[in-house]
Amino acid sequence: MLVVMKKSATRDEIDQVLAAIEKRGFTARAIPGGDRMAIGILNNQGNTDTSPFLVLPGVNDVIPVTRPYKLVSRETQPHDSVFQVGGVEVGGGALTVVAGPCAIESEDQSLRIAHAVKKAGAQMFRGGAFKPRTSPYSFQGMEDEGLRILEKVREETGMPVVTEAVDHEVFDRVEQAADVVQIGTRNMQNFTLLKRAGRSSKPVLLKRGMSATIDEWLMAAEYIMAGGNHRVILCERGVRTFVRHSRNTLDLSAVPVVQRESHLPIFVDPSHASGRRDQVIPLSRAAVAVGVHGLLVEVHDAPEEAMSDGAQSLRPGEFETLCGQIKQIFKASRPF
Ligand code: PEP
Ligand code: MN
Repeated sequence: MLVVMKKSATRDEIDQVLAAIEKRGFTARAIPGGDRMAIGILNNQGNTDTSPFLVLPGVNDVIPVTRPYKLVSRETQPHDSVFQVGGVEVGGGALTVVAGPCAIESEDQSLRIAHAVKKAGAQMFRGGAFKPRTSPYSFQGMEDEGLRILEKVREETGMPVVTEAVDHEVFDRVEQAADVVQIGTRNMQNFTLLKRAGRSSKPVLLKRGMSATIDEWLMAAEYIMAGGNHRVILCERGVRTFVRHSRNTLDLSAVPVVQRESHLPIFVDPSHASGRRDQVIPLSRAAVAVGVHGLLVEVHDAPEEAMSDGAQSLRPGEFETLCGQIKQIFKASRPF
C-alpha cells in the first residue's frame, strides 16, 4: 500500500504517518518525489484497511497495491483454468457456446429448442427452472418440474445443462440436476449462497452483478474458490448505465481486464446485456473478437409467446447465423 502525501504536508505530518504505520506493526518506507512525499507500507499481509491512514493530516491518497483476491488471481495461478463439463472443454483456447430459452416452459418446448441449438453449434443447453423475476406476478419458472425437463434434455441430446440456483432452499436440487449451477446477477453478492456454491460438486457460472465493479465480482468468485470449488466461470451480462437503447450496457472492456487479473474462464451473455434481439448477433461477434471463452445466448422458437425475455431471444435460424459468424471470427482472432 502506498500513502501519497499532499504537496503542502509538513515534516510533522509525515512523521505522524510513519509512526501510525509502524504502530500497526508494518514497515514504513519514505519515497521522496519531486514535489511531494510518498510512503510505502511493507509487511502487510494481504489487504489492509486504508481508512486509518486516509484520515491523517497531510495525506492526499492511499493506494492499495496488493490485490484483495488470491485464489482467482493470476499471481496464484499464472496459466488459464481449463476444465471439462460433461464432454465439453471450458476455458483456455476453447470457445464454448451455451444456448437455450430464458425459462423452461414445457418438455416439448425445451427439447425442440435444445435439438435446434445443438444442430446450429451449441455445446451446452441453458434454461431457467427457478426464475428471479423483477415482478412477483411474472412467471416464476416450472421449478422442480423444470429440473426434471433439463435432465431429460441432457439425456436426449447429450448436452450438459446450465440452470440457476436462486437461493439456498433450492440449491441442493439444482446442484443435483445441473451440470453447471448458475448464480445470477442479483445474487452475485449473496455471500451465504456463494459459500454454498463453494461446497458444490458442480462448476458454477457466476454472473457479474449489474452494478458490480470487477474487484467485487472477482471477490465473489474468491468466495466460491475459497470454499474448495475451483471450477468457476465468470459471465459478463451487462451493467446498468444511463442509456435507453439497451437493457444494460455490455462491458466488453471487462474481458481483457479479467483475463489479465484472473485465470478463470470468462463468458459473455449478449442477451441480458442488450435486452434486444437485434443487438445480440453484433455483440456476440464483438465478444468473440475480444477473446471470450464462451457465450450464453437466449434462443426461443416462438419468442412472441415466450414466458420470459422473448424480446431478446434469437430464433433458431438467427442463432445458426450467429454460430456461423462467430466461427470465422474465432478462427481469425485467436492468434491475438
Ligand atoms: C438468466 O440468465 O436467465 C438471468 C436471469 O440472467 P441475469 O442473472 O444475468 O439477469
Ligand atoms: Mn433471461
